[in-house]
Parts: sequence; structure tokens; C-alpha cells
Amino acid sequence: MSEQFAEIVFPVSIKQIFTYRIPPSLTGLVQPGMRCSVSFGRRNTVGLVTGIISRPPANVKNIKSIDSLLDSVPSLTKDLLQLGQWISEYYYCSLGEALFAILPAGYRKNPKAFLQLNPDANEEKVAAVLEKVGALRGVKWKSLKEGKVPLTARTRALAEALKTESLGSLRLDGSFDSSRVKRTGKIGEAQEIPKLHTQQQEAFDAIVKPLNLSTFHTFLLHGVTGSGKTEVYLRAIAKVIEMGKQAIVLIPEIALTPQTVERFTSRFGDRVAVLHSRLATGERTLEWRRFALGEAKVAVGARSALFAPAQNLGLIVVDEEHESSYKQDDAPRYHARDAAVKRAQICGAVALLGSATPSMESVHNAKSGKYTLLKMPDRVNKKPLPKIKLVNLREEWSVRGADRPVLSMALEEAIRETIENKEQVLLFLNRRGFNTVTLCMKCGEQVHCPDCSVPVTTHGVYKSPSPSRGEGGVRVNLTLLCHYCNWSGPIPLKCSKCGDGTIQQVGLGTEKVEEEMKEKFPKARIARMDLDTTRKQGSHEEILTRFRRREIDLLVGTQMIAKGHDFPGVTLVGIVGADTGLALPDFRSSERVFQLLVQVAGRAGRADKEGMIYLQTFNPDHPSIQAAVTHDNEGFWERELELRRVLGYPPFSRLGLLMYRSKDERKAKMASERAAEILEREAKRFNVEINGPAPASMFRLRGHFRFQILLKSPKPLGIRQLLQTLDSRFETPSGVFRAVDLDPQSML
Ligand code: ADP
Ligand code: ZN
Repeated sequence: MSEQFAEIVFPVSIKQIFTYRIPPSLTGLVQPGMRCSVSFGRRNTVGLVTGIISRPPANVKNIKSIDSLLDSVPSLTKDLLQLGQWISEYYYCSLGEALFAILPAGYRKNPKAFLQLNPDANEEKVAAVLEKVGALRGVKWKSLKEGKVPLTARTRALAEALKTESLGSLRLDGSFDSSRVKRTGKIGEAQEIPKLHTQQQEAFDAIVKPLNLSTFHTFLLHGVTGSGKTEVYLRAIAKVIEMGKQAIVLIPEIALTPQTVERFTSRFGDRVAVLHSRLATGERTLEWRRFALGEAKVAVGARSALFAPAQNLGLIVVDEEHESSYKQDDAPRYHARDAAVKRAQICGAVALLGSATPSMESVHNAKSGKYTLLKMPDRVNKKPLPKIKLVNLREEWSVRGADRPVLSMALEEAIRETIENKEQVLLFLNRRGFNTVTLCMKCGEQVHCPDCSVPVTTHGVYKSPSPSRGEGGVRVNLTLLCHYCNWSGPIPLKCSKCGDGTIQQVGLGTEKVEEEMKEKFPKARIARMDLDTTRKQGSHEEILTRFRRREIDLLVGTQMIAKGHDFPGVTLVGIVGADTGLALPDFRSSERVFQLLVQVAGRAGRADKEGMIYLQTFNPDHPSIQAAVTHDNEGFWERELELRRVLGYPPFSRLGLLMYRSKDERKAKMASERAAEILEREAKRFNVEINGPAPASMFRLRGHFRFQILLKSPKPLGIRQLLQTLDSRFETPSGVFRAVDLDPQSML
């Protein structure tokens, strides 16, 4: 057989495919999708095979050989290789970056390799080889014989010589041993399977059609909170399993939604593989394998569960498809919802996107016929949607003067009543910390992080009990904290600008709300759920469980408490401030506020008792707030779509965000200007509009100065081609970092 070569990629940003020789010992064994160990640069590392060729490209010299093959069957199936190719093209990253993101974390690193002597290798023969290779001080016969000499740059020549003389080979350590890994996931108790109500049945029937035909189709299931979307997912999955196929379920943040995961395990038991980023690598690998081997039929997990290796994929469910956490924020910057639709297309499967508040992109795709819209406008058992009462804080404050209360009188009264009735209260404010602004009362100068151009937040310093149990405890002091880089420091005594001494804190965070509630309602059991009280593993679950068991009367929290939870005891939701986020310089801010308000409101009144929402705002007339109050999805969509169309924003265009950053402001600025110049010159040809460069709205972040260029085009292809042109003309200078984000979810 003639010589063969493998095309191999690595998780690096250079867009290059590397060629390696397949040694005679591996001829016929190497396949695309397999991992191998090779020397790359000066290191020994894992590469992924993407193709086999019989002749190396003409310009490639000094071709190295593959050291060893790490897989006996491909780690990545054909459809995943294809998906990786699409991700690398669409999101403008290297194929290696895309494919290594698809590989499970435990598969990305090289297992340690050791030189292993053959049984017939005697000391004399090995000594001769050692001599031939040259002085390898430190390599002893004894350690060689015991297999203790690791493969390093220094011992590589020895390894090769032993191999050619048939005296030895490489042994890989740390290969996965499933018998040593325990599954820790709980399996939920089996529940009775309800009869589908009419709207669910109609949705289910529609989904079954393409399932039966094994054809690709995308559905957008728009069901209000509590309409029974999850039950529709469960039935569709049962159907898929019955057909001998597999399903993937994506949920936005798995740690936040243990209850959702339980609904899948209680229905399908052992046939569910949970791909949880907080699992130890070994257990995650085990779950991944159970799915790859077909033992598990359903894979449930966050973003990267999309890459679960199915043998025969029938369905991908994307729950809460509007969630921005589906977008990965470093390379490859893929959006899991859009990649899920792509994967379904590659596999001839059904993509089922569900939400009570779908993204404008999906709404647009449904309206234009690309997706089929399924509607469930009613709650299960015709339970009414909770009533929302608007409280105008501007009026409230003008009446009550200087004390600027956290709670309006109406909300305070409602809380008191709810607690007296032994029902539960959720208080929502999407700002963690104590005060959100620290400023000089004389000149108005705000205290900023020394490394970022963002105002710092104050946080309480607490005496026990520690905040990790969901409570602030006794506050003894305040410190400053930057939410972007975690810088922390004391509150300054004097203003750095005018030198005056009156520094004050204003603006409300969840910690302050918690503290005030404890003063106002000393007998109530009060807890807080935000990033600061949930740092410990399992703490989300602990707080949620305590709340569900009614050991907590009032739970204060950030958007964490808005996520799909089902709290039967909650009859009152107080939205302390609905306005956070409205003023963000991002074209999606209205959409985000609307979604969040509807989701928070949806937590109330899910059991027998009717729910009530108090929504406090300074902007009672804002369209997002008005639409949320009247549960008017259609109205909101229409307005928002029209606005986007007029301004030429997605979904009516595609955006690409180019970010140049450097510790040296001048360098970043110059690089972005140079790039913009080239882009400007070529933009017309590709039908792309260029905006910038301009300082990012968070101009400094972790000590880096950031300049951005926004690319806008009717089609993603134009942006990609323009970027290719840029890359062929301009190399990002050293000391400057460039990031490309296609379909960016954040413009900050
Ligand atoms: P969503 O995901 O749309 O918010 P869920 O699927 O969580 O809604 O359903 C809300 C509640 O109604 C859950 O407790 C669920 O068990 C219950 N439920 C769903 N479908 C039915 C049905 N057909 N009959 C009775 N109860 C149902
Ligand atoms: Zn900072």
C-alpha cells in the first residue's frame, strides 16, 4: 500500500490544516474524527484528523509522523465534523477551534505517553540504540524497563529509534476507565403522565409528522409560562425513543434548573444522560459515552450538549430559545440555538425551539415561514395569567419625599398580606450588590474600577452566617467591587476629582433589598439568590429546595429566580425595579427587558391560587413595560420588528462585531483604524456597511483599551468574505488582540 497522510487540526486560531504522515503501523486505522498524538511546534499535543490524503500538498516540507492514535473509533461522528465545518465558516473561526469545542472537555488533552519496551528487548540491544541516539543522560535501563520514561521533546528521538528497531512503542496513560467513575445524578421520581390538553395535542401532532418522515423541520413552540411546553417536549422525545432514535435537550443554565432536569429523568430514568458542566470530567465523559454508545437515548444539558454524539439523531429541543446564554462568548462564538437548527438539518432531524418569549430572530423566521409556529396561548387547566399592577415610582417618590423607599406602599402592603396568609413572595431586581453607584455628592464624579471603565458596585462584608447559604447575615461594612474583573477595594474617603469629602452610595442592589426586607418584616424568613449567594456547588439547588419546601417566605433575587422555575406556593411577585437594562446602548435592550419581565411574572400563580405581580417602574409608558403588563406578545413583536426593520438591525440584517483591544491605547486605536480603512474600501463590493472604529461602550476592560467596528449586511456571506479580504491584507499587530463576533448578542 502506498504512503498515506492525515490532515490534522489543532485548537489554535490560525486557519490552517496541517499534514502528518501516517506511519506503517497505523496504515488503514486512521479515520476522520479520530484524535491522535503528534508533535506540534515544540509540544506534544492532541490533534484531530479531518481527512486522509495520498499525497501531501506540494508546498509542505519536513512532514512529521503521527506518534500514536488515541481513538479506535472516531470521537467525532460525520455529522459533527460537518457541523464543525459550518461553525468555522459561519462564525469565522478556525476549523480546529470549532472541532475542539465540539469534543468533550476530557478529550482535548493529551494523555501522558511513556516509552514502553517490547518483551524481547534486552539490555544490550537497548543500550545500542541509546548510543546511536546520542547521549541521553538520565535515561536508565531500569526506568525504561519499568515504563517510567515519559515521552518528551528530549526522548522523542529515542522513541522513534526504538520503534524502528521494533524494540518498543508508546504507552498512553490516563485513558478513560468507566468502571472507576460513579454516576452522581439523581433520578427523579416517576410521575403520572398527564393527558395532553388540546393545544398540546395540536402541537404534538404537528411535530410528529416530520418525525415520522425523518425529515428536517424547525418548529417554534410559543407557549405562555405554565402552558405545558415541557410536557410537549417529553412526548416528542418518547416518540423519538420509540422510533429507535435519540434526542438532545438544551436548557440554558443547568445549575439553575435542577427541577427541569428532574422532569426528564423522572420520565425516562436511566435513558437520560445529563451533560452538566459542574460534573467532574470523568463523569461527564461517562455520560457522553453512554449517549455515544446508544445506552442513553436522551442527552440533557446546557449549550455544549448540542454536541452530544448521537448514532441516530431524531430531535433537538432548545428550551427557552431566547436566552442569550446560548451564545458562547469566546471563540468559537457560536449560538447553540442556530447551530442546533443546523445540526438538525445535517441529520435530517426535527429542531423544536420553545419559549414563552421567543427571540425576535425566531419570531421573524416563523413569520417568514422558515420555522413553523406552534402556539399555546393558555395555561394548563385554563389557569389565568397573573395580573400585573403597574406602580409609578416617580409619583410614589414625589408624594413620599426624601426617604425614597425601596417598596411602594402598595407592594409593601401586598407582601405583608401574602406572608400573613402563609403564601410566598418573590422579589426581583436585576442588580446584585448593595448600592450600584458610589459618587461624590459635590461634583457628581462616580467611582470607577481602576482597570475597567465601569462604575463599581458596593457589596456588604458580612459576619456569619456566610452569604453562601442564601443569606447576607449581619453586615459589618461595605467594600467596592468591579463586576467585570473582580477588582475590589475600600470606599474612598475623598473624591479623586474635586478633593471633597462627601462620597455617597446610591442605587439599589439585591443585598440592600434583602437587608431592608429583614428590617421591615422581622418575622419573615428571608433569603437571597444571586451570584454572590450561589458560588458554592449545589447552593442553587439548596436555596430552590428550601424555597419549594416553604422554609423561606420571601426570596430576593436577580434574573436567576426568573428561569423556568415552578414554585406552587408563590402568589406574589414584586418587581422592585423594572428599568434596569432599559437604558443600555444595545438594540436588544427593549427585547431583553420585555422577556425578563414576562418570565419573572410567569413565576406567580402556577398552582391553584391566583397570582399577583407588582411592577415598580419610573417608565410606566415604555412599550416593553406596557406590553409585559398586558401580556401582549403580538403587539410587542409587531412594534419591535418594525423598529428593527427601519433601523436595519437583526433580524433584518446580519451583524459582525470586530473588536481590537490592547493594553496600549494607541496601538489598539491604530490597528482598528487601519482595519476600518481597508474594510471601508472593500465594503461596497460585498454589500456590507461599516460603522466605526469607535471606542466600545465599555472602553476599558481588565486594563485593555477596546475599539470596535460594526459590520452590517443583508446576508452573512458578505461579512465573511469581507473579513477574508481584510485578513489577506492586514495582520493584527503584536500586542493587539482581535476578536470577531458574528451575530453578536451583546454590543457592549
Ligand atoms: P411551561 O414549560 O410551558 O412553563 P410546564 O410544562 O412546566 O409549562 O407545565 C406547567 C405545569 O402543568 C407542570 O406542573 C406540568 O406538570 C403541568 N402539566 C403540563 N401539561 C399538563 C396536562 N396536559 N395536564 C395536566 N397537567 C399538566
Ligand atoms: Zn474592573
